[in-house]
Formats: sequence, C-alpha cells, structure tokens
Amino acid sequence: KLVNDSLGHSVGDQLLKIVAGRICELTSDQGSLARIGGDEFVIILEQMDLEGCLHRLSAIREAVARPVVLDDIELRVTCSIGIASYPSHGSTAGDLLASADMAMYRAKELGRDGIALFTSEMTATVRKKLSRTDELRQALLRDEFVLHYQPQVDLQTGRIIAAEALVRWNHPSEGLVYPGDFIALAEETGLIVPLGEWVLQTACNRAKAWQDKGLEPIRISVNVSARQFQEKRLIETVATALTESGLDAKWLELEITESLIMKDLAGSIARMYELEKLGVKLAVDDFGTGYSSLSALKRFPLSRLKIDRSFIADIPHDADDMAITSAIISLAQKLDLEVIAEGVETEEQARFLVESGCNEMQGYLYSRPVEEERFNLMLEN
Ligand code: C2E
Ligand code: CA
Ligand code: CA
Ligand code: CA
Repeated sequence: KLVNDSLGHSVGDQLLKIVAGRICELTSDQGSLARIGGDEFVIILEQMDLEGCLHRLSAIREAVARPVVLDDIELRVTCSIGIASYPSHGSTAGDLLASADMAMYRAKELGRDGIALFTSEMTATVRKKLSRTDELRQALLRDEFVLHYQPQVDLQTGRIIAAEALVRWNHPSEGLVYPGDFIALAEETGLIVPLGEWVLQTACNRAKAWQDKGLEPIRISVNVSARQFQEKRLIETVATALTESGLDAKWLELEITESLIMKDLAGSIARMYELEKLGVKLAVDDFGTGYSSLSALKRFPLSRLKIDRSFIADIPHDADDMAITSAIISLAQKLDLEVIAEGVETEEQARFLVESGCNEMQGYLYSRPVEEERFNLMLEN
C-alpha cells in the first residue's frame, strides 16, 4: 500500500510480482502457492513435517526480504507468516486457513517479519473477542450506551464553557463499563463507526436541549477515533447530527489525537478542511504524546490543543513536565490556538496553568465526568 501511495500502482504491482516469483521458486517442487487478495498469499506444503516447513518458510522469508530495485529505488518487503498444520489445526480448508490467519496476526503482533505457529490458545482468545464483539453489537441495538459529561472550565472566570462527552456501556450484568475496556475492540471491528454516530447525535441533541432550556450555550466536545476519522461518511454523519439536533456547528468540537493525524497526514488535512467548512471546531487531544512537528500544526485548521494529562499529573514536582506544559501553552498562543489542560486534579496545577497563560482546564479538581442529570444541575447553578 505504501508503495502504491508513494510510487504508483504499476510499481506496486511489479514489486508484488517479483516477490511472488521468489516464493513460487521455493514452493513449486513440493507445494502450491495462491494469492488470496491484497498482499496475502497461501502456501500449501505437502508431505512435510513441521521442521521441514519451518526450514522452507524461513528460506521464503529471506527470499522475500532481499531488496528489489525498481526505477533506481531500492525497496524492501517484510512478511509475516502464520503456520497451521493438517489435520490438528483444522480438518477443512476453511478451518485451516482461519488458523493460519490467526497465527499470522500473532506474527504481526510479535513485531512483523516473523513466523508464528498456530496454538489452541489463539482460538480461545479469538472466541472471546468474537463473543465480546457480538455483545457490543447487541448493546448498540439495545441502547445500552450512555454518555457522561465532564465540564471544561474557563480558568479566569471559573465558569463551565464546554462539556466533553464520554461514552460508557451500561452492561446488563457487569454494570458500568468504561471506554478503556471496549473502545479498542470497537475500533478493531469497525463497530466504532455506528457507535460514534450514536455518540455524535446524542451529544448534539443534548447540547441543543441545554440551549433550549435557556441555559447559557456551551461547546460540546466529542472524541473521534482513527477509524471514524478515516471513514468518508464522517462528514455526512457530522452534518446529519447537526441538522437533526438543530445545533449550530460552532458549538461542536471534535477531539482527534495527534497520532491519528500523523497516520495519514494528507488524508487528515483534507478531512479537517471539510469539517472546518461545516463550521465545526477541531481540537488535538492528548497533545504532546505524539511526534507531530510543531510547524506542521500551522497547516491544520485547528482551534485548540489539549495538553495530555501525563504532563499535568506531576506538576508541581516534575520540572521537565512544567517546562513542557508552559512551552505548549506559549506555542499555542503564538499559533493563535486555544489551549486546554486535561487531568487537572489539584489547586497547585490549576494555579500553575493560570500563571502560564492557559485558557481552560478539565479534570477531577472541578468535576469528574457525570451523568446527564448531574451535569444539568451543574449548568443551572
Ligand atoms: P480522553 O479523550 O483522553 O478522555 C479523558 C479521560 O480522562 C476520560 O476517561 C476521563 O474520565 C479521564 N479524566 C478526566 N479528568 C481526569 C483527571 O483529573 N484525572 C484522571 N486521572 N483522569 C481524568 P474515560 O472516560 O475513561 O475515557 C477514556 C478514553 O476513551 C478517552 O480518553 C477517549 O480516548 C476514549 N473515549 C471516551 N469516549 C469516547 C467516544 O465517545 N468515542 C471515542 N472514539 N472514544 C472515546
Ligand atoms: Ca478526549
Ligand atoms: Ca485526552
Ligand atoms: Ca488521554
């Protein structure tokens, strides 16, 4: 994919052909080779014991890794190999392939460019994941998700000026489940897309309902994960959430992480401009934990940096964290961005932030994320 994106499809195709040719040379005497889509191949080795297989596959891996020169550019390919053996790891072609697939993912997890053998624990892990995924899907249909809201506070006036919507799963037997326990799986399985749509719509409805009650309008911040951000229909989803709720776009802010932006820089910038056109605001969440070049920030239509809570946690004891925090704040000011600190738990931290010129804060010091009704009361006071 990387080659296709940067050098064009014809180079990508040539590269794949050369690599496939090398694998073919090493399989033709005792096995067969098939391409099962994209950059995945199946190798069937017959009449061979495990040791023989490992030996052969190592040779294949080395052959694949030999550099390829195309258009004067030296390219290197790595491969991850998963092994399943007949009949112990599957008696049908489908089962055998599924086992080999699990082993291949294990090889990738272990750092790519490696070989992993299927084990029965892999099925147990996969089975657990599948049933949790199924539960998540059901939870969406059964309306088991709820949003909690955490206030974002103006450091000068002490007033609530925004709320971050944070999703929780009201699990029928496990009680309240926090995002740390299900967002990653939702992301992996794509369920984050419908879940994210629900979050966006619910948060916009809520913000509009507060305004309709005559409360002073506040901004609503919604987290958007990498997968959601890559979906083309995000723009449509956001537009729909705004029309259906009647919320003015200027009150909606999307929080995206630095690493998400860097993953696909060109795509992200395009997406950001589309969102800006809708009138929606963009904040960089967990700022300082990624590797974005600071000058790149100027190219993005951003309105806010959200200083990651890890920098705030050890203030005032960690001089480095204090230096980084105040550097981020002055950087934000120079770039004409708003800046908010998250995870503010103590008065000392809040004082340091005020002294450093930070605009806003969010954290347990003011309030934990609370249920809708509690947040209503906080707004009314
Ligand atoms: P995040 O966006 O960095 O959200 C802030 C997290 O820090 C929240 O955890 C919040 O409860 C917690 N927090 C707030 N103030 C403090 C504090 O003073 N001290 C400490 N120690 N923690 C504080 P939560 O609600 O468990 O959410 C965890 C993560 O899950 C979020 O991190 C966000 O990345 C993700 N998440 C939550 N809701 C959604 C959602 O609707 N969609 C997506 N895609 N991700 C979500
Ligand atoms: Ca966030
Ligand atoms: Ca954050
Ligand atoms: Ca965080």
